Amino acid sequence: MTTVTELDAAAIDGVSEALAALAGRRVAVLTGAGVSTDSGIPDYRGKGAPTRTPMTVEHFLASDVARRRYWVGSHLGWRAFAAAEPNAGHLAIAQLEARGIATGVITQNVDGLHVRAGSRRVVELHGTMRRVFCTHCGQVFDRRDLAVRVEADNPWISVPENVPLGPDGDVRPETTDGFVVPVCSVCDGMLKPDVVFFGEYIPAGKFREAEQLVQGSEALVIAGSSLVVNSGIRLLERARRRRLPVVIVNRGETRADARATVKIDAGTSEVLRALAEALPARL
Ligand SMILES: [Zn+2]
Repeated sequence: MTTVTELDAAAIDGVSEALAALAGRRVAVLTGAGVSTDSGIPDYRGKGAPTRTPMTVEHFLASDVARRRYWVGSHLGWRAFAAAEPNAGHLAIAQLEARGIATGVITQNVDGLHVRAGSRRVVELHGTMRRVFCTHCGQVFDRRDLAVRVEADNPWISVPENVPLGPDGDVRPETTDGFVVPVCSVCDGMLKPDVVFFGEYIPAGKFREAEQLVQGSEALVIAGSSLVVNSGIRLLERARRRRLPVVIVNRGETRADARATVKIDAGTSEVLRALAEALPARL
C-alpha cells in the first residue's frame, strides 16, 4: 500500500536545494521507521505513536514468561511485516543504487523491506526479523520456516480472537500461558531473533560497515528518522567532519535539523521518489 500525496511549496523548494547539494555525488542513505510507515508499519517514535514497553535483552534471557510473551508478540509482528510491501521510498532508494547514485542504504529498521525492494548493499544496524539464531550453537534459521513451526505447535495463534492485544501493543499474559516457545532444532538451545534488543549494543562490525559506507560516499541522505538513536547521530557526524552535504527528510523535527545542509519536512516516499527521478544516473 503506497499513499503518495503532492509535495507542498516548502517541500518542493527543499527538493530543489537537495538536488543542488547532491548533484554529481555518490550518496549514502540512512533510513529509520518513517520510510516504512507508508507500508503500514507503525513508527513507534513518531507523533501520536502508541507507547510501548520494549523488551530488554536481560529480561528476555532471564525469564521464561518474558520469552513466551515476547515470542507471541514477535510472531504476530512478523506476520504483519511479512504481509507488508516495499513502498515508493524503498523502491526509490533501490533505484538510486541501481543508477550508480546511492552507494547503499544503512537502516535502523528490522522489517527487511529495503532488501525486498531490491537494494543490494543494505546495512541493517538493528538486525533483521528475517532471521533467528540459536544462542547456544549459533545455527541460523529463516523466519518463514520458524513461523511455520510456531503455527504448527500453536494452532490457536492463527485465530485472531485468541490473541487480544493490550493498549501498549503487548499481548495479554493469560493468552500466552500455553504457548510453545520454539527452540533450536539442532541442539534445543534458546532462539533469539537476529535483532538488537532495547539495551543491547549494535554489533561493532555492523557499525563499522555503516561507517565504511558513509566513508565511501560524498553525501548523506537521512530519511524517516528523528535521530533519537545515537548511531544515527554518529554517522551524521562522520559525514559532517568531512564537510559532506547532509540532507534530512522527515515529517517533524529531528535531533539534528540544525546540522543538516537541507531539511525537508515531508513524507519520505514522495521526496525520495522526486530525488530519484531528478538525479542523473552515474554509471
Ligand atoms: Zn542450537
